[in-house]
Amino acid sequence: MGRALDVPILGTGDLLRSEIASGSELGRQAESFVDSGNLVPDELVLAMMKRRMSQPDARAGFILDGFPRSVAQARGLDAMLEEMGITLEAVVELTVTEEEILGRLEGRGRRDDTPEVIRQRLRVYRESTAPLTEFYETKGLLLRIHGIGAIDEITQRITDALGADGAR
Ligand code: AMP
Repeated sequence: MGRALDVPILGTGDLLRSEIASGSELGRQAESFVDSGNLVPDELVLAMMKRRMSQPDARAGFILDGFPRSVAQARGLDAMLEEMGITLEAVVELTVTEEEILGRLEGRGRRDDTPEVIRQRLRVYRESTAPLTEFYETKGLLLRIHGIGAIDEITQRITDALGADGAR
């Protein structure tokens, strides 16, 4: 798994895919949701992320990628962080057009990148995930970043928004 700002990136989709690949109980429970482009039930995702955030490499901080994806998950995350004594410092929204998203997924070839499943994932995003921007804006945590351009340009925009050296 990747690192940035010198902390690990905890990607919910990556973690779910490795649970599925290993054939674990969690993987078996998650598989049909991932394959159809729907959200894996909150209690499974919240428990998985709590376990991951509790590992030693996450002690100095972490970046959550693809989580939370609904207001219910965001409330669950708040409760978990409070219990763990961790403060959420910032939420980054990368804004891109649907056209750009479709172009990027085309080149990726993941099993859930079929046209039908992509349509469903976009629908779920609009219905369940998009309301999170207002949730975090209200908390004063939201950084809205233009997500089109070269990867290093977008990285720079994010680190600039987080603070001059990218380490807050
Ligand atoms: P991603 O790798 O972020 O594109 O996620 C791939 C799939 O994993 C999604 O379509 C969902 O089925 C599942 N998934 C990833 N993150 C979450 C989450 N926070 N909550 C529920 N399901 C998730």
